[in-house]
Amino acid sequence: MHDAMKPLLHPVHLVGAGPGDPELLTLKAVRILRKATVILVDDLVGEQVLGSVLEGIDARPRVIHVGKRGGCASTPQDFIEKLMVREALAGEKVVRLKGGDPLVFGRAGEEIEALRYAGLDVAVVNGITAGLAAASTLGVGWTDRRVEAQATLLVTGHARPGSAGPDWDAIAAIAATGVTLVIYMGMSRIDRIADRLLETLPADLPAAAVQHASAGDERRLVTTLAHLARDIVASEFGSPAVLIIGRVLVDAKVDAVPSSAAARVGRR
Ligand code: SAH
Repeated sequence: MHDAMKPLLHPVHLVGAGPGDPELLTLKAVRILRKATVILVDDLVGEQVLGSVLEGIDARPRVIHVGKRGGCASTPQDFIEKLMVREALAGEKVVRLKGGDPLVFGRAGEEIEALRYAGLDVAVVNGITAGLAAASTLGVGWTDRRVEAQATLLVTGHARPGSAGPDWDAIAAIAATGVTLVIYMGMSRIDRIADRLLETLPADLPAAAVQHASAGDERRLVTTLAHLARDIVASEFGSPAVLIIGRVLVDAKVDAVPSSAAARVGRR
């Protein structure tokens, strides 16, 4: 193609939509979304978020949903990458909108690599990750010096097909030193995860689950590691939810707990 005929290429933005509350988007995210011509949206991003961001704009962007919808299998990752590359090479202002922060269990590395390989510039706009929104609604810090929580570990509870998944013994050993665990994608395996952690960690270690953190239908539960799996089932908690495990939860705020769970969490 003659240079003069080549479309002007724009950088592709990987934008964090935050955990659900539209007010938690950054000003930068809003500005970039309102200028976009094509937006590829993950299923974790609530309709409300995009709706409120795009309110009142003249030229509505093309919005493509690329997550699991209505029980369909999720869109294959290489399809998403090819789509982003194709649209950006055609001169579109492409935004890939992801739940929470794009850099936290968000496949950003793979997407950045594919976009750069195609000769495109990429920029990341951070969002508030679900684990932080969960901590704030519980009223606890990830790192709290009063209980000597000197670090926080973000862990995935999900094993990639063909991979052994997280080394729960190593993770439990780290948590035993006071490190706070924040577990994403752990709900479907909560019983196995809790069993593995209990081989090393004390049964009365405080543990919490927060579903739909920051959104209107948010729910939270605070209990102990020994009762976490049982209480999650009893309270009918489902995805998306983040688990937080550690002594930082001693002061956690709960308003809807299954029977007597709150009483089990005490300062030691
Ligand atoms: N990039 C996202 C995480 C994607 S992995 C982020 O930074 O938040 C998907 C997992 O994130 C879900 O299985 C769940 O564990 C968690 N998650 C996403 N949104 C959530 C929300 N609003 N409340 C609780 N957990 C959430």
